[in-house]
Amino acid sequence: MSERDLLARPAADVAAEIARGALARTAALDASLDAAQRVRIGAEGLNAVLWRDDAAARDAANRAAAGALCGLPVPVKDNIATLGLPTTCGSRMLEGYVSPFEATAVARLRAAGAIVQMKTNMDEFAMGSSTEHSAWGRAQHPLDATRVPGGSSGGSAVVVAAGVSRIALGSETGGSVRQPAAFCGIVGVKPTYGRVSRHGLVAFASSLDHIGVFGQTVDDAALGLGVIAGVDPLDSTSVDTPVGDYRATRDADGPRPLDGVVVGWPREYFPDTLDPAMRALLERAADTLRALGAEIREVSLPHTALAIPVYYIVAPAEASSNLARFDGVRYGRRVDPGQGLRGMYETTRSEGFGAEVTRRILLGTYVLSAGYYDAYYKRAMAVRALIADDFRRVFASGVHVLFTPTTPTVAFEAGSKSDPYEMYLSDIFTVTANLAGIPAMSQPIGRIDGLPAGGQLMASHFDEATMFRVAYALERALGAEAHR
Ligand code: GLN
Repeated sequence: MSERDLLARPAADVAAEIARGALARTAALDASLDAAQRVRIGAEGLNAVLWRDDAAARDAANRAAAGALCGLPVPVKDNIATLGLPTTCGSRMLEGYVSPFEATAVARLRAAGAIVQMKTNMDEFAMGSSTEHSAWGRAQHPLDATRVPGGSSGGSAVVVAAGVSRIALGSETGGSVRQPAAFCGIVGVKPTYGRVSRHGLVAFASSLDHIGVFGQTVDDAALGLGVIAGVDPLDSTSVDTPVGDYRATRDADGPRPLDGVVVGWPREYFPDTLDPAMRALLERAADTLRALGAEIREVSLPHTALAIPVYYIVAPAEASSNLARFDGVRYGRRVDPGQGLRGMYETTRSEGFGAEVTRRILLGTYVLSAGYYDAYYKRAMAVRALIADDFRRVFASGVHVLFTPTTPTVAFEAGSKSDPYEMYLSDIFTVTANLAGIPAMSQPIGRIDGLPAGGQLMASHFDEATMFRVAYALERALGAEAHR
């Protein structure tokens, strides 16, 4: 079998064959490095990978643990701490920075036999939806170089979509895994808040941040999530609740595998302004779900329209506090023009942060300042609770999962959203799950003018299993239609 075919096979099968010696320890890695060269994954091409160490990767492959990811390369986003490779968050502020410790998710990947040898491009400090706002240049969409791959985890989406790996890690604060997954035609999962340890994920907005997983298929993503999920003493917000087997329903067939499942269709996610082509793909997928035995029930999440304004108060507020640590003293860049401590802070931060990060810090500082705290931050937190309540009510009424578009449009042209507010609106269907902390995922449901579109599933807290059950069945039933 050629190396190219190896990455066309399910991650679980390849890892199992490597673990029992049927394939060479380095077989998947060699296939990945070969693909990386062919698709030009680095700065000379797609610009999806920022840092890599192929020699260390070979070494690691030869010593890999015989676990569920044995010998599989798993690239990780550049805001997830790794030993031996830089962690720069796509920012000049952290140019050359190498973490002295490793994220729990990365440690778990390695313990399962994965090779973590590439750090992927991202919007600076994960603020963005296009991977255009990286200090190291924009990443390209794998099908059309003039378009964006989505963001902020665009690099991780591209490595998976371009066939350089089956699984990659990203992070989400408001959709940064699901949105690029939708744009690139792959699967992206954001688990429940607390399901995966955030230890070693560089903080953007701590109450909204998650580590998420990209997969070429539902099964690849379920496999990856199963490895990194579970309570961690190093993250006090991680939750000690059984992880379960997300792959348990992968072989469920029979004529109606979704008998008894109620799928909510929230009308606020299908506004009259929604692109009719997008609506048509969602309706086709809903017909498929019905044929599989599910009931499609129209529901309402009345506070949905407030999600973007609430997010753009809460996220910058937390960011302004979290990013205060980048002051030139302990981490990364320090620029000291010799005018005292204050001058050092100012110059370091002005030169280290790009325009979008600066905008967020200013916004966040403003909404937290005396006199504005009650008017903005406190009110936003109250509305956030209403948004979470909308979901709670719908799930309590007997709905098992919600089904919506992941994004209003397919991948847009690079440079086309120069007004920040336009960019913010591309997250309109994804920020709600971060505000509520519920699990959500995107999977391919078809194409519009040749570009992938994603369908989103959301479930109630810690019910990833039901979400995967529906995703597996839909993926199987759509078959090649999901990519047409
Ligand atoms: N696009 C959103 C933002 O810019 C979400 C980013 C994310 O999920 N990291 O904040």
